[in-house]
Amino acid sequence: MCSKGYEDKLWKTIIVGKFGDKGGWCFVVIGLTKFKYDNWYADFALKDHFLDLFSINQNEEILVADSWYVEVFAKQDDVTLLCLCGLEDQKEKEVNFSSGRYFGGNDKDLGSRLPFDAGFEAVGIIAAVGDSVNDLKIGTPAAVMIFGSYAEFMMVPSKHILPVARPDPEVVAMLTSGLTASIALEKAVQMESGKVVLVTAAAGGTGQFAVQLAKLAGNTVIATCGGKEKAMLLRDLGVDRVIDYKAEDIKTRRVMAKEDSFKEKKWTKSKDGRFSVKSLCKALDPERQGDFPARVIWNSMVPPRVSFFAWEATWKKVLTLDQIQRRGCPLANGCYLCLLEEKSIDHIRLHCELPRSLWNLSFSLFGVS
Ligand SMILES: [Zn+2]
Repeated sequence: MCSKGYEDKLWKTIIVGKFGDKGGWCFVVIGLTKFKYDNWYADFALKDHFLDLFSINQNEEILVADSWYVEVFAKQDDVTLLCLCGLEDQKEKEVNFSSGRYFGGNDKDLGSRLPFDAGFEAVGIIAAVGDSVNDLKIGTPAAVMIFGSYAEFMMVPSKHILPVARPDPEVVAMLTSGLTASIALEKAVQMESGKVVLVTAAAGGTGQFAVQLAKLAGNTVIATCGGKEKAMLLRDLGVDRVIDYKAEDIKTRRVMAKEDSFKEKKWTKSKDGRFSVKSLCKALDPERQGDFPARVIWNSMVPPRVSFFAWEATWKKVLTLDQIQRRGCPLANGCYLCLLEEKSIDHIRLHCELPRSLWNLSFSLFGVS
């Protein structure tokens, strides 16, 4: 089938898409497809990457079409993807945990949705595009995250197509795990450079991406994992300090942590040199350096509602009018006690006339002027 029709073009785009546009890819003898058996481009052997085509190639009587004939088309706004690294690669390696988790676990859920197509992530080559799709071309390598990606061909709405540089198996790992790590670090944590980043469960799919991204951003990375092999893997990925929680106790262990080097066995972010999550949080958020007066506020002698108010007031979270304004509510702000200034937590506690006279009264009772 190599001699005519789109199959020829399709297989050529698959191979060129995977390996680049160098070298010959096949020659045709009256309808039979022949692939070169030796290395085709750099170190990539075609026979390893296209097992089926090569097994067909071994039998001179078979046409590619005999085993591979598929009618490739795409509806209006859809794109049909030839999945190269969905099923096969996931079978060989490890299926993303989420790939097997299709339902919430209750019987109703399962019953109502059978039968279903397996797989959630795939990478491949665009084999057909619908009439309304203008921005995507046949032959473009692309990835998708959509149910049913263990299929050889899948027709998906064009908005789900993520064009990628090469249709390599590594792209599949980058989808759920890689994007989760990237979004968590960049959007949720707003990662900077020159900080200490702690990644827990770092040897998992998402964790491995997280430690590498944090390193690339120029941070010191501390990673936790369970087991020697995982610890070794994380060291290979460039983690500065690996904590194997099966071999050492995270709570009592003195963690080696100096931001630029780990030679000194001391955690510099706390007074006693011991690692604690509290000290790490403080290091990550220096604006909250001020010590919270917990003993005074959370005191059994103080009524709970007073404690709660004092706690809110310390963090400036009391819903005074200025806070309500900050949340987008268009209210006029004015202090009801003095009718002079705007109401804020500092104003009603300290600066307003009435509270100030109360403070003065209580100070004078203790002889303070
Ligand atoms: Zn006032």
